[in-house]
Amino acid sequence: MEHPIDHYWQLRLTDLKETLEGNNFEVFIAGNAVDAGHLVLEKILPKTGARRISWGGSMTFIATGLHDALKGMQNLEILDTFNKSLAPQEALELRRQSLLADLFITGTNAVTETGELVNLDMTGNRVAGITFGPRHVVILVGRNKIVPDLEAAMSRIKEYAAPANAMRLDKKTPCARTSVCEECKAPDRICNTWTITQKSFPKGRVKVVLINESLGL
Ligand code: SF4
Repeated sequence: MEHPIDHYWQLRLTDLKETLEGNNFEVFIAGNAVDAGHLVLEKILPKTGARRISWGGSMTFIATGLHDALKGMQNLEILDTFNKSLAPQEALELRRQSLLADLFITGTNAVTETGELVNLDMTGNRVAGITFGPRHVVILVGRNKIVPDLEAAMSRIKEYAAPANAMRLDKKTPCARTSVCEECKAPDRICNTWTITQKSFPKGRVKVVLINESLGL
């Protein structure tokens, strides 16, 4: 067999798709990050009719090329919450406005084999947008985010994703120094709000793109 690892993951993603659909998510599978970007632009975006688009922090989103592609598109109103030239107050206001977007795109910290999305946020704009506000949400998910259950999801996040993100963002936290979570009280603590998205409500509002590639933290 050619590409047995991709084939293995394709079967796992197909099973997970069915489980997530049972939880009222609309689910797509893409072979890699670039294909996921095309899928969003060519299939999901036109179907939503979205005009006002925003996003929450996600390395996977950047890897798909969607950030650059969407910013270059005419006739869309883009709320670019990644714009580093904004003053802190302006950036905060843009994040507040992004909760009224037609389409909100982000990643997830973990997805369980029982079909839940599990996230832990510092600011909360990402989990807020997933939960309520934007008319449509797209969650981009690399195959490395799959875990068996909620307990494994929380372990993955606290033992790996949060410390690694603290390092990536140059946060002054114990985990950024040692790789181990100390349930810190540091001002830079990035672990403030947990969400478990057990089902999509309304049905299909949250669209999950499962990607057959390891992406993000
Ligand atoms: S609680 Fe603090 S030490 Fe633990 S992972 Fe979060 S930021 Fe790091």
